[in-house]
Amino acid sequence: MKSDALLDSAKKHLYGNYKPSPFVVERGKGCELFDVDGKRCLDLAAGVAVSSVGHAHPVLVKAIAEQAAKVIHASNYYFNEPNIRLAEELCKRTGFDRAFFCNSGAEANEALLKAARHHFYARGDKRQRVIAFHNAFHGRTMGALSMTGTPKYREGFGEMGPVTHVAYGDLDEVKRAMGADVAAVIVEPVQGEGGVFVAPKGFLAGLRALCNENGALLLIDEVQTGVGRLGRFLGHDGMGVKADAIALAKGLAGGVPIGAMLTTEALAGALPPGTHGSTFGGNPLACSASLAVLKILDDEKLVSGAKEKGEALGKMLDALVSEFPQVCEGARGDGLLRGLVLQKGFVARDVLPRILQLGVMLTAAGERVLRFSPPLVVSVAELEEGASVLRKVLGELQAKTQAGAAATV
Ligand code: PLP
Repeated sequence: MKSDALLDSAKKHLYGNYKPSPFVVERGKGCELFDVDGKRCLDLAAGVAVSSVGHAHPVLVKAIAEQAAKVIHASNYYFNEPNIRLAEELCKRTGFDRAFFCNSGAEANEALLKAARHHFYARGDKRQRVIAFHNAFHGRTMGALSMTGTPKYREGFGEMGPVTHVAYGDLDEVKRAMGADVAAVIVEPVQGEGGVFVAPKGFLAGLRALCNENGALLLIDEVQTGVGRLGRFLGHDGMGVKADAIALAKGLAGGVPIGAMLTTEALAGALPPGTHGSTFGGNPLACSASLAVLKILDDEKLVSGAKEKGEALGKMLDALVSEFPQVCEGARGDGLLRGLVLQKGFVARDVLPRILQLGVMLTAAGERVLRFSPPLVVSVAELEEGASVLRKVLGELQAKTQAGAAATV
């Protein structure tokens, strides 16, 4: 079917909670996506930081096909080998002791929240409150939503569990919000959805110290930052901070739905049998896909590559900021999670259609940030292609701004 016919049908039959661009994806290869009419687009978004090893990576395709031919699902009433091997592999790479698998980032964060509250409940401690951050994004299910720090996402959904939101990066505010009723603090190493805000140096270590002083747990949401995106396996690696539990998802299985909660041994009993679970979580298909992704990350040195290519991308974005000061306020990010911040008055999502028309996929983060979160297999030449399309679009915006300013003189 051609695009037009499919888009007509989509208008009639798809639920209206999304506002997709009129590009009907048919297939992909590496960082390229093609629509049903054969139009090519350079994918520098990887969905939203998901397609970590690019599209149709042969090793991932083979692993999925081979596992599908054996068994896709068998439930958590039984064990399966890919699930056990993935748990072992993730524990080995991260230093955590236990893995619980689910199907998305929101579910991984629900597991963190439930584990934290139940850990204290089981000790007769009534702590329930969570400290989270303004602009944080933890997902759309009710528990994850309660911790998400952008009011517009929570509006209209009624009462939310006890969560206090404070300024990201402000340890004094966290200190003031702390109390004997706080079960946990949840934090992202870089706030991706909120606008690509990088945690200030020492912030996570400061949170760890405040949690220790107050008997609260530190939960780190690595859904967007984990699995190599920042040029290290976990976003908080190298910060000298050990969380009590972390959430992973997005890039973990290269696009096959998966989420994971990793915990220390101290939290291993927080959710005993019957308190939590997931029908699809930990299925052999998703776990095999994830094992293949981890192998590709190693074989192709994609984690260290994300650091180098991220630095190259950072320079390209800095150059655009200098070139178009009337349109760009700055650039920020870490590894292959970077944002070009537009000046006040611009709305990032309104700029995306023109970028797409010129053959590049990016996403918006927060109100004014054009976000790059490409597959980790991206080449520097592909990043340059993205930057050159952006140069054209920023040039058009700057020309419009100048014409507008001239008209008002
Ligand atoms: N946590 C973070 C940091 C995210 O960036 C996201 C999604 O963007 C989520 C959680 C929610 O993940 P999902 O959409 O898979 O539920």
